[in-house]
Amino acid sequence: MPDTLIQGSFIIAGLLFILALAGLSKHETSKRGNILGAIGMAIALVFIILGVVFGTEQTVATMLGDVTLPIQSAAPAWAIIAIVIALVVGAIFGITKALKVEMTGMPELIALFHSFVGLAAVLVGWTAYFQSVAAGHFDPLHSGELFVGVFIGAVTFTGSIIAYLKLSAKIKSASLVLPAHNALNLLAIAAFVVLTVLFVLMPEGALGLGLLIAVTLIALLLGLHLVASIGGGDMPVVVSMLNSYSGWAAAAAGFTLDNDLLIITGALVGSSGAYLSFIMCKAMNRSFISVIAGGFGSDGAIVGAQKDYGEHRETNAADVADMLKNASSVVITPGYGMAVAQAQGSVADLTSKLRAQGVNVRFGIHPVAGRLPGHMNVLLAEAKVPYDIVLEMDEINDDFTNTDVVLVIGANDTVNPAASEDPSSPIAGMPVLEVWHAKQVIVFKRSMATGYAGVQNPLFFKENSAMLFGDAKERVEDIVKAL
Ligand code: NDP
Repeated sequence: MPDTLIQGSFIIAGLLFILALAGLSKHETSKRGNILGAIGMAIALVFIILGVVFGTEQTVATMLGDVTLPIQSAAPAWAIIAIVIALVVGAIFGITKALKVEMTGMPELIALFHSFVGLAAVLVGWTAYFQSVAAGHFDPLHSGELFVGVFIGAVTFTGSIIAYLKLSAKIKSASLVLPAHNALNLLAIAAFVVLTVLFVLMPEGALGLGLLIAVTLIALLLGLHLVASIGGGDMPVVVSMLNSYSGWAAAAAGFTLDNDLLIITGALVGSSGAYLSFIMCKAMNRSFISVIAGGFGSDGAIVGAQKDYGEHRETNAADVADMLKNASSVVITPGYGMAVAQAQGSVADLTSKLRAQGVNVRFGIHPVAGRLPGHMNVLLAEAKVPYDIVLEMDEINDDFTNTDVVLVIGANDTVNPAASEDPSSPIAGMPVLEVWHAKQVIVFKRSMATGYAGVQNPLFFKENSAMLFGDAKERVEDIVKAL
């Protein structure tokens, strides 16, 4: 198979990835974007496999990592069998996970996938090192690439594992604040720079091996520490940041393997992830540098600190239905609990029923509501809630004073007034939906438990708030029946 055909397929796949990203930036075009991305990935995979099986020596070397493989004109049988086994195992794992995963489990699945990318980059780097050892030749540029690739990959690997554990609630989401944690991070980065220079100059022998082992260990520990230092409320930025790191890890592996498509794809993922992190930091009023540096500048506020806010008031579905009948303006602010309860369909029914009765119903979406960027928008789109009544936080925040009733459906941190009222709160400074300015606020949740950031919510104790306890889907259905 001619190399030009393979290179051509890489360019087409790369273009499709760019179009996919452009499509994913808007509700209306996101499905198309997804399909274009999937076609791009299918083209890339098919041509990579064809290239390995039927390619020239040059192509196969590129596909499998250059330098020393004893290749004639196509890959040896063992390599083809190994690739097929890896593809089948990977496809079975991916398909079963994707079919089984609930929307609420997506963030941890994504974190797990990021960890695989990181691990792959580490393995590619180490393989390239052993190939250079076998060839008895180290190219300085190649040495630098593989060293940086191993570092980024290892940070991504352990960082993503910690993110997976935090997002799946297997470990506490609170931040770990070690003494001198900022200095530890800086020390690790400084060590990485020094070790890289040493490795590029002296990659051979026991010293080279020792340097590579050292950077791998330092990066594994740094990844652990970076993500462990970040508190629950800032986890959304970590998810997009690890997305970015996984892209750079893939790009670094692409440089090591001399594979253009991997470089293009990695750079696209890396830069779009970095931009998403930047947007999320802006939305959450967090410093981008502080988050990518792993809670740099954190004052170590105690996440679980509770205060006595007084008594809360309870209500029931019939009373809420009466309240809604008399309202002319209603805003619904959904959060993670709506996803857990899978209440979006019932919420859409409630919305159309109220709108049919002439009530002005709108949605207020916080940028980090749920557990994924855009989580609430996806659920509401799935339930066919019209886009034009789904507003961003900035678009709705000034309107709460003119709102009769706010229905807080399974949201907690994203409507927590402590963010603006209590400077000692771990979520202080994060802009939130200021629902408490409305005449009445009804909070749908099952208990008085805290949200993801583990911070008590004074909203629940305000005079104009009432709690409607129970599963959000069941309570919304009760209201729909009562209307
Ligand atoms: P929260 O996680 O703050 O709160 C969700 C609330 O939903 C809980 O208090 C819970 O209370 C309630 N709930 C859970 N299940 C149900 C149910 N079946 N019926 C009714 N209520 C239910 O949600 P928010 O969306 O307000 O905030 C998102 C948080 O997640 C933020 O801290 C954000 O930083 C973080 N995060 C966001 C990510 C993103 O990209 N969007 C990624 C990672 C983290 P109870 O148990 O009492 O029912």
